[in-house]
Amino acid sequence: MLEARQSSIDRFGCFTKVAFEPDAYIADYEGALISSEEAVRRESDPDREGVYTFWLDDERVIDGYENGNVLRFLNHSCAPNCTYEITGGRILIYSISAIAPGEELTIDYDYDPDTVLEPCLCGTEQCRGFINNLERE
Ligand SMILES: [Zn+2]
Repeated sequence: MLEARQSSIDRFGCFTKVAFEPDAYIADYEGALISSEEAVRRESDPDREGVYTFWLDDERVIDGYENGNVLRFLNHSCAPNCTYEITGGRILIYSISAIAPGEELTIDYDYDPDTVLEPCLCGTEQCRGFINNLERE
């Protein structure tokens, strides 16, 4: 249903082979449940290719690098077609709009504005220039 392949946003992206209606459940973002301390250590580990940590809250993180699924390749976009809901230690990915087969799935990473600014390459008209959400309170 989903596949990883080359993306214009980053090296790889998560693409759908099927269509989704708006507000449809797509899949869980899977991975190992780790602590925030462990996540910070892994995020700065130069031996890891890519960062796939998804923060549930200030203490718990799901790391898609370990036991993750294809959703670990979800790229950020400032005009995403997907969103997520965190509930009971799970991360559920939903469509926002109707999505056609072959489209890349994206979410808004909504990075904290007070962390290192990461330039955004989403290429949408709504691009805010950074993955960080500078509008965030
Ligand atoms: Zn952007």
